[in-house]
Amino acid sequence: MFDANHYRGRFAPSPTGDLHFGSLVAAIVSYCQAKANNGQWLVRIEDVDETRVVEGADKQIIKTLRRFGMESDLPIIYQTDPDRKAAYASAFKNLEQMNLTYPCVCTRAILKGTDSYPGTCKETQVDLELPHSVRLKVSGESFRFADLFQGHQSQNIQQQCGDFNIKRKDGLFCYQLAVVVDDADQGITEVVRGIDIMDSTGRQMYLNQVLNLPQPQYAHFPVITNVLNNKLSKQNHAKAITSEDPFNTTKMALKLLQQEVPVLNRPSQAELMAFAVTHWQPQKLKGIESIVY
Ligand SMILES: [Zn+2]
Repeated sequence: MFDANHYRGRFAPSPTGDLHFGSLVAAIVSYCQAKANNGQWLVRIEDVDETRVVEGADKQIIKTLRRFGMESDLPIIYQTDPDRKAAYASAFKNLEQMNLTYPCVCTRAILKGTDSYPGTCKETQVDLELPHSVRLKVSGESFRFADLFQGHQSQNIQQQCGDFNIKRKDGLFCYQLAVVVDDADQGITEVVRGIDIMDSTGRQMYLNQVLNLPQPQYAHFPVITNVLNNKLSKQNHAKAITSEDPFNTTKMALKLLQQEVPVLNRPSQAELMAFAVTHWQPQKLKGIESIVY
């Protein structure tokens, strides 16, 4: 599969609150997948959307991960670091120089009801005094990838979203741009994340292509939902796991992921994570899109 010496995975939470059970599962899946491949597991704080950052949430997330026996193998990076912002600005400039960008003054109200951006500002001279975002021109090609869990996928970004924003009206770079630059700079070989983000993959593959960055492998694991079929998320007020017992919570996560759990004596959290890695069976998650919690 991969060169075992070079596998690098990542867990990239947004610091908008503490980890809840759904995000803990994301951490566990990416951790086990990295360690089972004798790889490195990196934590990246995705605070590119500075407007949503909750003060102290990053520290709390890192503390919770440590309590659950998961520690980043390299220093944690923040998207708000000046170095990272410079890297995004450099990629952005490259795209501008390739004549792949244009300013867009469309408001949310104008675009309401359209799934795919119709290209309204592409051929017109827009008033740059107006608040404007910057869009990336996309191509009509389909991006195909063999997802570790979800199998063969094909995404046509022209149909899916059209020319998409890479810089916001408030001047912040968009998630899609930041993520591909980070993944490439950190040497991520496999992106492991929830299936709810799978539709970003085509855009990220396109960005990798035009920026001449390596294409990582992808592995989108099933989303954890509640009985009402709502994804567990901060938006759904999923409970933070700050005060939950790590052993029982990890065991529950592993069971939901159809993984083995130790039966006899109660190991330490470190031993439990080591057990999870040794017994990691990613094939158990093949083709599963959601798991009810
Ligand atoms: Zn526009």
